[in-house]
Amino acid sequence: MINFEFAKKEMIEIQLKRRGILDNRVLSAFESIPRHLFVPEGRIENSYDDSALPIGFEQTISQPYIVALMTQLLRPLENDIILEIGTGSGYQAAILSKLCKFVVSLERKSELVSFARDNISKLEIKNVQIYVGDGTLGWKSNSPYDGIIVTAGAKEIPSALISQLKPGGKMIIPLEHKGYHKLTVVKKEENSFVKEEIIDCIFVPLIGRG
Ligand code: SAH
Repeated sequence: MINFEFAKKEMIEIQLKRRGILDNRVLSAFESIPRHLFVPEGRIENSYDDSALPIGFEQTISQPYIVALMTQLLRPLENDIILEIGTGSGYQAAILSKLCKFVVSLERKSELVSFARDNISKLEIKNVQIYVGDGTLGWKSNSPYDGIIVTAGAKEIPSALISQLKPGGKMIIPLEHKGYHKLTVVKKEENSFVKEEIIDCIFVPLIGRG
């Protein structure tokens, strides 16, 4: 039987801290969320591996380092309302729940919405709301958001997401580039936005109308 607590500590030390995830709030969020509760039964022994893992329906739970990097780039504050596109397993949403006031998370596959809701409820997390929906159109009713995190690779920045972001707010989004993705930070200003590319990565595709 694997010692999950030990595996989690090692993941934080080796995969996160040594690669420059040093924000203490982010590290304690990773400390408090057991990743093995978000991984399907058959893969549970790989939960803390340095890789993405299949969660069914051709989708994946992202590599721990990527979840941490996106979270550190977003830097959610205690009173923030954050929109996540691509709930998947619910792991990223659970991490965010420890760092901000409220998380709205959208997932296009209803089976994964059930999976993620179950995972989130095992931890008695109350500040995450998961909906079935096309995330490229955003979720207007809780907008504008302090931050948006897109966990699937997009061809371009969905304009609905820009308009649902607060001026001064940030969006973290992988954008398609020659067959892979560039993890990008988009900062919204009063009437424009600026992009900063961080690293190359590979995500499952964002599929939607927007
Ligand atoms: N954040 C997840 C990983 C997500 S993988 C986690 O922590 O486990 C990307 C997810 O985005 C997949 O579940 C996929 O079904 C979903 N997705 C793709 N296009 C989407 C869209 N337009 N709207 C909502 N979800 C979408």
